[in-house]
Amino acid sequence: MTTRDRLRIAMQKSGRLTEPSQALLAQCGLKFRVSRDKLFCYGETLPVDLLLVRDDDIPGMIAQGVADLGFVGRNVLAEQAGELARDPALAPLAEIRALGFGGCRLSIAVPNEDRYESPADLAGQRIATSYPNLLRQWLAAHGVEASVVMLNGSVEIAPRLGTADSICDLVSSGGTLAANQLREVATILQSEAVLAGTATPPADARGEFLDLLLRRLDGVLAVKDSKLVMLHAPRHAVEAIARLLPGDARPSVMPLEGSDDVALQAVCLGAVTWNHLEAMKAAGARSLLVLPVEKMLA
Ligand code: ATP
Ligand code: ZN
Repeated sequence: MTTRDRLRIAMQKSGRLTEPSQALLAQCGLKFRVSRDKLFCYGETLPVDLLLVRDDDIPGMIAQGVADLGFVGRNVLAEQAGELARDPALAPLAEIRALGFGGCRLSIAVPNEDRYESPADLAGQRIATSYPNLLRQWLAAHGVEASVVMLNGSVEIAPRLGTADSICDLVSSGGTLAANQLREVATILQSEAVLAGTATPPADARGEFLDLLLRRLDGVLAVKDSKLVMLHAPRHAVEAIARLLPGDARPSVMPLEGSDDVALQAVCLGAVTWNHLEAMKAAGARSLLVLPVEKMLA
């Protein structure tokens, strides 16, 4: 195992995951100086550096010890982890945290006019995909024999070109499938961006930075969809209002000088809608404020 005194995180150089991954690290208080070739970012606030690479290279870099962590789609991690685990010289990989962005699914899609009732209908087909391992696992789990056609891109046009009968590809809105006269028939993996790392954390100083980073990350993730609700209310209405707070929030109640009213505040998980606010107002609340929560340290 390599020893280094700075933690290295691999992240996509340019693509869907780049901006949200950088934003997440910024929320964790990390600032970087970018190298001239834009491949390396030096951490200025913590001994944590970034390597900017293609997303497909991230699991391998972690397994080899070139990077300690990576921001990568679960789809890419799951596709590669099994194969990498077979090499005893490489470290086993783990999904350390799900990050709540980059949501998509790996699905089977067939031409609109094709019949599909169950996985058995795929028997004997040629299925185009960039995820041969995940597709083979799924086919085996369903006892289906089909041939897997590996394509690195433009998988969705394979059926029209006649190079495959159906496909297994990433879907988010479904727009690309519809534009290619395909319909989604089965989901083989629900994916989102994850923080990937080795199954065993580094035993040297990097382990401490990893812990610190995870604590901050958890603080950011925990409040990602939460809001701070503040309001004033007559003391007798507090119980009724507390019941109307979204997400079973437990409010703090503070007396207001020289008044029978109290100030109430609560961190609410999930959306706080106008309906919530109007219901609380009807129950006696005034001066309602809803604020975004940026960080939380429990
Ligand atoms: P690279 O040049 O780094 O190899 P890429 O083209 O493989 O880039 P992107 O298209 O940027 O990668 O996708 C990165 C990740 O974003 C995917 O692996 C997946 O986890 C996630 N993602 C979310 N929605 C979609 C979608 N609709 N299509 C493809 N990927 C998606
Ligand atoms: Zn890629």
